Amino acid sequence: MEIEFYGATRRVTGSCHILRVGNFTVLLDCGLVQGSRDVEALNREPFPFDPHEIDAVVLSHGHIDHSGRLPQLVTRGFKGSIYTHHGTIDLCRVLLRDSAMLSEHDARFMRKHGHKNAEPLYTVDEALQCVRTMTGMRYGERREILPGIAVTLYDAGHILASAFVKLEITEDDKTRTVVFSGDLGQYGSPILNDPEAIGEADTVIVESTYGDRLHRDFDKTLAELGEIIENACRDCGNILIPAFSIGRSQEVLYLFGEHYHEWELDKWQVFLDSPMAIEASRIYWHYDELWDAEARLFRRHLSCMPPIENLHLTGRVEQSMKINELHQGAIIIAGSGMCNGGRIVHHLKRNIERPECHLIITGFQAEGTLGREIVEGSKEVSLHGRMYRVQAQLHTVGGLSAHGDRNDLVHWLKTRAGAPQVMIVHGEDGAKQSFQGFLHDELAVDALIPKPGDRLDLLSNELSLAEPDTEENT
Ligand SMILES: [Zn+2]
Repeated sequence: MEIEFYGATRRVTGSCHILRVGNFTVLLDCGLVQGSRDVEALNREPFPFDPHEIDAVVLSHGHIDHSGRLPQLVTRGFKGSIYTHHGTIDLCRVLLRDSAMLSEHDARFMRKHGHKNAEPLYTVDEALQCVRTMTGMRYGERREILPGIAVTLYDAGHILASAFVKLEITEDDKTRTVVFSGDLGQYGSPILNDPEAIGEADTVIVESTYGDRLHRDFDKTLAELGEIIENACRDCGNILIPAFSIGRSQEVLYLFGEHYHEWELDKWQVFLDSPMAIEASRIYWHYDELWDAEARLFRRHLSCMPPIENLHLTGRVEQSMKINELHQGAIIIAGSGMCNGGRIVHHLKRNIERPECHLIITGFQAEGTLGREIVEGSKEVSLHGRMYRVQAQLHTVGGLSAHGDRNDLVHWLKTRAGAPQVMIVHGEDGAKQSFQGFLHDELAVDALIPKPGDRLDLLSNELSLAEPDTEENT
């Protein structure tokens, strides 16, 4: 029995690992790589395995960097089931369809501009076909997905229905327990529960997106948000919030509802300018049994989510374009979260050169994305082929991230029982190494950082290194 590390071992996006037990092969996640155009071209490459030979997939959560290549897996020959939380299936229906629509749109654009053979990664039909192969589970439900492989999902507190996965694997009378973190949320974040405890494990695979950083504590984050809104009001500008459609958008709206009077939001028009975020918000609203106690109490007094009188759900393009007429007093939440496409780019074009406008970055910005360029302080950025000076006031509010910081990750690892081998994945190199050093110093844990193609023997916890030519070529 072994795990081969494949995606998200060298970077933050494109999560995918391969579990082999006897004659069975199971994938843990199958996500899209996100970043610059060159990096995203990797999404068109063949998989490093034959999809026909995959017997099952376990999906931790809906985010596209964990789920976005699943439709390709199905079109290229995968015939098994994808096991995930019920809520993730609902979110994937929205997310994968949107991912397909974007890809079809890009392919049409490329064909129009001379690339005759441009094809989408997958079509809307293929995305929906993939969702139909998903089998829903609940947290805490143990299910034998293949002989000798049992799966239990636990709440990871990252986005709605996000899970970390416990796999109990038996071969020749030997049993090993592997825990795969997926993405972990912050302890104490709004709406969702805290990540559950790991318990017994022989191997723990943990993400490390913010393994080298600490977020500001939540009360300070709230004070910071209130201050930004107050300043933006005084400056007579707009506020732009690039947000992931699933997770951040709902959390920001929830906080707006909770602090509506304190932040004087009645002076603003709030726009949720994303058809996908609007649909995802309805799903969030529907699954209130997955909320934490405080959010459920808050919801009990409401008839609709969120309780913001001046919230506009601008699903249609013409509604979105009308926002352009507002030069002040608009708070615009739009995707994509890393600013590398979507409606936020249109809003940036109208606002980024205006010093009276404010830009609030709430989520992780991958290398090679426009969001990363802005966060790193570029004075000029290219939007739809034209250069714009960055003059709006920039705020990075890490405390709103869907990912836990170093302390959250350590807190979670402390809930392990026994002395599992810890494997660090899903982070940029610096974050992984820093986190590895921290675990060594603080917890006396000698964690390993696998490279693409490295294999971990689950019986001995020994790592065999990949041949150099099996590594990704970037
Ligand atoms: Zn995620």
